[in-house]
Amino acid sequence: MSRILIKKARLVDPSQHLDRTGDILIEKGRIKAVGEDLFELEAQVIDARGLVASPSFVDLHVHLRDPGQEYKEDLGSGMRCAVAGGFTTLVCMPNTTPPIDTPEVAQYILRKSEDLGLCRVLPAGAITKGRKGKELVDFYALKRAGCVAFTDDGAPLMDSKLMERALELTAQLGSFVMNHCEDDRLAYGHINEGYVSSLLGIASRSASAEDVLVARDCILAYHTGGHIHLQHLSSSLSLELVRFFKEKGARVTCEVNPYHLLFTERELLSSYALAKVNPPLRKEEDRKALLEGLKEGTIDCIATDHAPHAVWEKGQIEKAMPGMIGLQTALPMMLELVREEVISLSRMVELLSCRPARILGIDSCGTLKEGTRANLVLFDPEKEWVLEEKTNYSKSQNTPLWKRRLRGKVMYTIFEGRLVYQDV
Ligand SMILES: [Zn+2]
Repeated sequence: MSRILIKKARLVDPSQHLDRTGDILIEKGRIKAVGEDLFELEAQVIDARGLVASPSFVDLHVHLRDPGQEYKEDLGSGMRCAVAGGFTTLVCMPNTTPPIDTPEVAQYILRKSEDLGLCRVLPAGAITKGRKGKELVDFYALKRAGCVAFTDDGAPLMDSKLMERALELTAQLGSFVMNHCEDDRLAYGHINEGYVSSLLGIASRSASAEDVLVARDCILAYHTGGHIHLQHLSSSLSLELVRFFKEKGARVTCEVNPYHLLFTERELLSSYALAKVNPPLRKEEDRKALLEGLKEGTIDCIATDHAPHAVWEKGQIEKAMPGMIGLQTALPMMLELVREEVISLSRMVELLSCRPARILGIDSCGTLKEGTRANLVLFDPEKEWVLEEKTNYSKSQNTPLWKRRLRGKVMYTIFEGRLVYQDV
């Protein structure tokens, strides 16, 4: 059936300052009407009493491991995770094998994901060939092949001259650079430098590794006029630097990961390697500063950095690969902050959907306006569930939240007018 009628949902859409009960009619892939007491004889009706309807989520930072490491995840499993978590647009990182540094790899991802058809996957191209930090890629060819941004994520670009050039060239193409900011000479340890690293006797990395590169990238964006998007910001000083440079008019945007908002380094004491991420989980004062940044607007968006790893890659902390899966847990984690009254539900939707859509320059998501493509999610903010074998769509299980009780569940996800996920 090509028509869907959503009845009596709480409609939350910050793009049009909407927060009220109402109906949505979807027809031929688009939002045909938003209003009260809508009626349509030939439509699949969704009784959405008790549910929130919002624009579906947009994740600027995921690792789908395809091509090359399909034992951790592939495009199909990653996209199923995404729609089960309420996301219909993903930007996938280029640290695949081979990396996304040629048009062929970008097009493989676009074609395969379009064939699967569950949601939209947009590749981020590498900044340098092989992500080696030595020679710039052909930005024009990669943009033409469908890359929406450029990053060497996981291998921070250390050469300032190359970063300056990358900012200039991508700006000329109307694109932007993303950077995982950690100076690799300073970020040699495994976890945050502090109480927990001393207690466990594990080599650590300080926040200065992040702060140094955030400062450099903001300065280069300021001088070149290029757009830098700072990935998974985690330290309080980084946030202050972003605030300072935004006020100066630099084109700086930033994302934060839900785990940096809800966990501190102490999580390592109970979850061990499952809590190992880069940049590392930090101190309570950093976490508090990030919450402040969410409230006052310095932080632009939430990104999950969904990073699947096999069980054997998450053993001993020193040897474990960094990262957590996150597409299915982002909503319940962010709802925790709504319940704690750190942010409103509307601000949460802005962070997960409207703002990242605007950063990408895509107007077919991030809004429920009449006439736009129907990309939306219906979630129950109170429903409790557990992420375990039967609810997990990822090929991997690496998260401290595995088998913990979560509150807030996606019930339906609609992509381009089609129901692509339904909670059963
Ligand atoms: Zn990263």
